[in-house]
Amino acid sequence: MSIAVGVDLGGTNIDMAAVDDDHRVVERARLPTPEGPDAVIEAIVGGVRALKSEASAVGVGAPGPVHQGILVTAPNLVGVTRPVPLAERLSEALTLPVVAENDANAGVIGEWVAGAGRDSNHLMGVWLGTGVGGGLVLEGRLFRGAFGGAGEFGHMCIRQGGALCGCGRRGCIEAYAGRASMERFVETAVASGRHTLLTELRAGKGRHRITSGIWARALEQGDELATAVLDEAVAALGAGIGAAINLLDLDHIVIGGGLAEKLGRDLVERVERATKPFVLVRGDREFVVADLGDDAGVVGAASLARATTGRGGPHPRADDGWAARLG
Ligand SMILES: [Zn+2]
Repeated sequence: MSIAVGVDLGGTNIDMAAVDDDHRVVERARLPTPEGPDAVIEAIVGGVRALKSEASAVGVGAPGPVHQGILVTAPNLVGVTRPVPLAERLSEALTLPVVAENDANAGVIGEWVAGAGRDSNHLMGVWLGTGVGGGLVLEGRLFRGAFGGAGEFGHMCIRQGGALCGCGRRGCIEAYAGRASMERFVETAVASGRHTLLTELRAGKGRHRITSGIWARALEQGDELATAVLDEAVAALGAGIGAAINLLDLDHIVIGGGLAEKLGRDLVERVERATKPFVLVRGDREFVVADLGDDAGVVGAASLARATTGRGGPHPRADDGWAARLG
């Protein structure tokens, strides 16, 4: 049994896991994310070395577009203001093969090799978090695009001149279905006198933000504003997924992230219904909740490391040529 280490580099924490040939996590560690590229690299190196399991390859999922191992931009990493050659620098320091990939892509790979997308070769993962992430597996391989920018589902425009998105553009899916945007709609409504359980529950729990759990409770109790904001989010997701299906003829849509985990099958079914009217060519498409939760990123990153470097033992899907086609 050989081990590849998967790293999920986030704005708050760095999660790492030693993952075996069967995509099982055998050991895990979490560190706070330090400021600046040098400190981030040092932290990952220290973390990988501190694991008891001996790694033969390392994969890193990073919060931004990654092109040829270079993290191009990372607005959520404090102190990272220019491109970072993540794979090269980590590989030098660790003297191990290292691959770097966008975190949403790593998550999709995780769900594809070991989670809810196992049966698919035309898969889109949609991650509902602060923003809306996405990733694509097309014809049985991760689809990166020409510049590493493929799969940016959250920034597909579904309403020209619509709500302002965190990216500075208008009408993106994320501007309706990202948690930060949904929370902004709530704040605006409350400021103009609307009453909602969302802010009441938030205050009761002493939280700064409306967590997925708070959304779930307010929706359960039929809160009007929560229902209206979620309806908008579902409509935006439906229009976007419909457009993606018309372009790519996907067979699986895997929906994950905090809100999807909390609302589960119910949310996914609603998104599926909202998608249908936009789809041109009918097909037996599956809309599913992601299986692996927070582990999707580390399992996917480890799997990418295994497949692209040829280290860390056989890849379960190597027999269908996946590893060969990935590189
Ligand atoms: Zn945007």
